[in-house]
Amino acid sequence: MRYAEVSVNSPVAQRRTFSYAIPSGLTVDVGQAVWVPFGEKVLQGIVLELSPHPAVEETREIIGAIEPERVLSPVHVSLARWISEYYLSPLFDAVALMLPPGFERKAITFIDATGREPDRSSLTSEQRRVLDLVLEQGKVELKKLEKLLGKRKASSVVSQMVKQGLIARSYDLEPIRVRPRKDLYIYKVANAGKAHRVAGKQAALLDFLVERSAPVSWAEAREKTGCSKAVADALLRKGLIEYRQVDVKREPISYENITPSSPLPLTAEQQTAFDSIKSGLIKAIGDGTAPDIFLLHGVTGSGKTEIYLQALAEAVKLGKKGIALVPEIALTPQTIERFAARFPRRVAVLHSKLSLGEQYDEWHRIRNGEFDVVIGSRSAIFAPQPDLGLIIIDEEHEWTYKQDNSPHYHARDVSIKLAELTGAVVILGSATPDVETFYKAQNGDYKLLTLPQRVVPREGASLPQVEVVDMREELRAGNRSIFSRSLAEAINDAIAGREQVILFLNRRGGATFIQCRRCGFVLRCRRCEVPLTHHIAGDVLTCHQCNYRVPIPQVCPNCSSRQIKFLGTGTQKLEQEVGYTFPRVRHLRWDSDAIGGRSSHENILRKFRGREAEILIGTQMVAKGLDIPSVTLVGVVSADTSLNLPDFRSGERTFQLLSQVAGRAGRGPSGGRVVIQTFSPENYAIQAAAGHDYAAFYEQEIAYRRQLHNPPFTRLARLVYSHTNDAICQREAERMKALLIGERDARGIGDTSLIGPAPAFIHRLRGRFRWQLILRGSGLSDFLSPIAFPQGWTIDIDPMSLV
Ligand code: ADP
Ligand code: ZN
Ligand code: ZN
Repeated sequence: MRYAEVSVNSPVAQRRTFSYAIPSGLTVDVGQAVWVPFGEKVLQGIVLELSPHPAVEETREIIGAIEPERVLSPVHVSLARWISEYYLSPLFDAVALMLPPGFERKAITFIDATGREPDRSSLTSEQRRVLDLVLEQGKVELKKLEKLLGKRKASSVVSQMVKQGLIARSYDLEPIRVRPRKDLYIYKVANAGKAHRVAGKQAALLDFLVERSAPVSWAEAREKTGCSKAVADALLRKGLIEYRQVDVKREPISYENITPSSPLPLTAEQQTAFDSIKSGLIKAIGDGTAPDIFLLHGVTGSGKTEIYLQALAEAVKLGKKGIALVPEIALTPQTIERFAARFPRRVAVLHSKLSLGEQYDEWHRIRNGEFDVVIGSRSAIFAPQPDLGLIIIDEEHEWTYKQDNSPHYHARDVSIKLAELTGAVVILGSATPDVETFYKAQNGDYKLLTLPQRVVPREGASLPQVEVVDMREELRAGNRSIFSRSLAEAINDAIAGREQVILFLNRRGGATFIQCRRCGFVLRCRRCEVPLTHHIAGDVLTCHQCNYRVPIPQVCPNCSSRQIKFLGTGTQKLEQEVGYTFPRVRHLRWDSDAIGGRSSHENILRKFRGREAEILIGTQMVAKGLDIPSVTLVGVVSADTSLNLPDFRSGERTFQLLSQVAGRAGRGPSGGRVVIQTFSPENYAIQAAAGHDYAAFYEQEIAYRRQLHNPPFTRLARLVYSHTNDAICQREAERMKALLIGERDARGIGDTSLIGPAPAFIHRLRGRFRWQLILRGSGLSDFLSPIAFPQGWTIDIDPMSLV
């Protein structure tokens, strides 16, 4: 093998590899990181393949290995290739997903002596200066020479001298900037005299330190004694205690306050599900057949997490390891603790909030096989976990598993590919499975496991009562408030009973659709069935899929009422209304605007848990993972905002959100109640969510999908072009459509169709206009792969949303 196919870290490399010759004396492996010459530069590359022949006639040589050990396993090399081909993303972008954190860095050029003694009289004065410096220091950074001689001069002198064999270049990664963390520790001075009398707080702190013979972290001392820093400073001045800065190891999990937990005895339903998974794990190790994919469908509080934990323990027993994915929002201390308590010191956490240093340490320890379980959000699927035997995706329907930017991968689909490559078993868990996932389970592609009952607060506990309030009725009765009479009464009751309330409002969609306040009618596209959206320019309603346009009607086409208007309220407006309607009640707002620093989520939650407010107002964030027994009422202020998004998944989205929000109520012994306000009370998604009836929702939804030929009955791609000029943007989108149709017909691909171009739902984003094309068909990646897309286009295969 004298040649290597290398994925190079350059934007011009796109989806291809480049052939390099392997110089004699160098051995490289698949998955190895190397330095390669690329144009004038030296860049990072990853070897993806070795071959006896180059793919092109002229090749340059690999300069050297960046690290002696390879950074990617063969499995990850295959996975990166698949991601690049399937999602049409640049190859190195896909590779980079799997590299150690902070690995993508520039090369630093060094100049070394070669040991050849020149005839000094033949050298220029600059050459002599360079040589002297290199001989004196052994290895000099090129930057230093540039400072000395000027950038141009340095480069030409070095080039001449390299040609003459007097010096040689070498490369190294820029050092990673990982600052060790230091914590303040305090301890009592051993033979501090009795000269000072201390009392009160100072005495308490001193007593605490006497009890502990070793230095104690200040954070702990403060927490245990309740003393302020001023108290400690006073003791320091008296010479009774000392401070010390201590390097702390970066441990994302603090085990100090975690009590190890034992497996719970399973309920009969849990046992049945667990037994299937167990035989799946055993089978996956035994024979070479494709490993099972399980869909664990269980209502909130049905004990899914307990099954994940026991399945992981089973995999460990069989000599395997696992990866568990949770949505970013669920990656709270609560969730991590549950895993850490079951697998003490055997859990690694990976998420974007860790510092680069923490991520770097964690990555290397994972690769060394130090953990049974890696838990993390989306990108944790790329952790270098060896001996992978089990992949768990909790809340598999969550949209956060899809990456917004390139590569536009979906962690669930990547998991399934990874399972295929490694033989690992997959568990997809959800209370409201994605209809595409459920469809596969119905078809037998996945194995369906069901937990229909709650185990909390007791086995078989009922789900909360849900009341759907028809807001048209409220108007007819003369109530123009944002709160229906029912909801207002329920809030007052809850407050009187010293209970807590969550008010949920999904702001997205805002005032862009119009609805008749008398009959609830929403204008829809005749072709696509999606709600028409009000367009900023002109008094028209537009279909964001096919660009169908109609003027805004003056009266309702359904009931001729004049009460047809824009709807939508944001959380901030809602907050005002709460203050106005319930002036004596304290409230907190929780949405992305209210979130600032690293722990702000926790701050808001802590306040609410600590009962510093009775009402919590929030967007989707409140819908997920909150488990607060004192919350007895959840109010959905408007179910219509998500229902009327111009997207074929809006019904599914609404069902999922409402089900989750409803699951927040009644976790405690006092039960719970949910009020959903809507202008479309008869809508199937709202009805099914109110009845906690996934089956009814699925039946209706899958029928719509079949009828309108949407996934899972086809696949989609969303192509968006953005440009500062709207007309140019539209023209390019039309040109691309014509080109794609020509290409399709020339290649005789029958099942692919194009919709649009139409202005994107968010037509203008950061000063650029956006137009989009939607493609439907089965082999979209293959179809689009050879087509050259000019800059400005983004391609999203299997988009989660068309808006
Ligand atoms: P889910 O993940 O489906 O929402 P969890 O696994 O979080 O459900 O379970 C909800 C609660 O029930 C947790 O507090 C958990 O400890 C408890 N639980 C789960 N399984 C059992 C069981 N078999 N026996 C007793 N308690 C259980
Ligand atoms: Zn009407
Ligand atoms: Zn349309």
